[in-house]
Amino acid sequence: MNNPHQNAIAQLNQVALLLRPNYSARSKDFDRVIKRLAEPDRVLKTQLKITMDDGSAKKFMAFRAQHNNARGPYKGGIRFHQSVSEVEVKALSTWMTWKCAVTGIPYGGSKGGIVVNPRELSVAELERLSRAYVRWLATKIGPWIDVPAPDVNTTGQIMAWMVDEYQQTLGKQDLIQENPLATFTGKPLELGGSQGREEATGLGGVFVLKKLTKALKLKPETVTIAVQGFGNVGFWFAKHAVDQGYQVVAVSDSKGGTYVKGGLDPVKVLAHKKKQGSVVDFGKPLTNEELLELEVDLLVPAALENVIHKDNAAKIKARAIMEMGNGPTTPEADEILAKNKVLLIPDVLANSGGVTVSYFEWVQNLQGYYWTHKEVIGKLQPLMEKAFDEMWATKEKHQVDGRMATYITAVQRVVDAMLLRGN
Ligand code: GLU
Repeated sequence: MNNPHQNAIAQLNQVALLLRPNYSARSKDFDRVIKRLAEPDRVLKTQLKITMDDGSAKKFMAFRAQHNNARGPYKGGIRFHQSVSEVEVKALSTWMTWKCAVTGIPYGGSKGGIVVNPRELSVAELERLSRAYVRWLATKIGPWIDVPAPDVNTTGQIMAWMVDEYQQTLGKQDLIQENPLATFTGKPLELGGSQGREEATGLGGVFVLKKLTKALKLKPETVTIAVQGFGNVGFWFAKHAVDQGYQVVAVSDSKGGTYVKGGLDPVKVLAHKKKQGSVVDFGKPLTNEELLELEVDLLVPAALENVIHKDNAAKIKARAIMEMGNGPTTPEADEILAKNKVLLIPDVLANSGGVTVSYFEWVQNLQGYYWTHKEVIGKLQPLMEKAFDEMWATKEKHQVDGRMATYITAVQRVVDAMLLRGN
């Protein structure tokens, strides 16, 4: 099994080799900060004990990795999944640092998680677990310290419980100085959330897709897309892509995939999934492996890490990959894809729309002044387009792949902030 943190370190070392000549006057300082960036600033972990509905007690392992805050407070989601681990949150927190630097928002990176399959908990148990997580972390997060958000299997409702628990925990000790709503993003609209946040990751990806389509001189109607993963990100990406005229011919969830020649309607697929529990028999059933190997123009992994690895990378027939999930491609697979001339738009660029609208939500909470949907999207689009243009220009200039082209700019921004601080 691939260790995602080792993957994150391999990517960092690869970009450090490219960047090092730019820092020849300060090579010792450069090497020091790169070494520091290989590990998060701190990793917090604990066992959370909650009472189950039947009166028994159960423990769940929980983590928060705070990777780097040179450019601003730590920022990143909280994941509830049975495969959460220390190395996973470390990797995901590292990727958040680069992601925030890619669109230039003033945050560092963090990530949290609980080892749990939330589908096995009742709503009341899920609430108790979410609250227990925040009671444990309350003094280690805050608008100017570390700002959590949703990630895999966490929702606006979970953020609402968390913000409430945070306010109660610190309120008791008179420790609240800022609007407590600004400690979490991805909240429901009724509780300080931002217009556009729910769809932001998917929509941001489609803004990038439109730029890519133009750069490749293609027409949206001729571009076929397969999306692996049909959670919040996969659904909204597919929906906005179809609204823009692209053909989404396949989608999948953890149970398998479905294929519809000529393109499917993501809204109908979602209704089917809600009724039947899976997308599989919406159209022609496919396995997840078959979906990854479809003959499409664009493959969009929008689920978990390490789905494109050394054993299947050579079988990918798509001409481009947009990583809407975090860390779907291993470094070995990156090499194979580059050799096969498969264009890769990395996670830290493709899915950065989510955290970018999280930033807008935080700004609105701190100002107590709320924007319209049009204003939010109007601010998101130019940031995504600029990030794509910077990546494309670096790619052409240095003749590197999409991941390295994105990392060159992102890592440089973080390194420069650290050097200015004398870190
Ligand atoms: N969990 C999302 C991500 O991986 C969003 C993070 C955030 O909004 O802070 O980008």
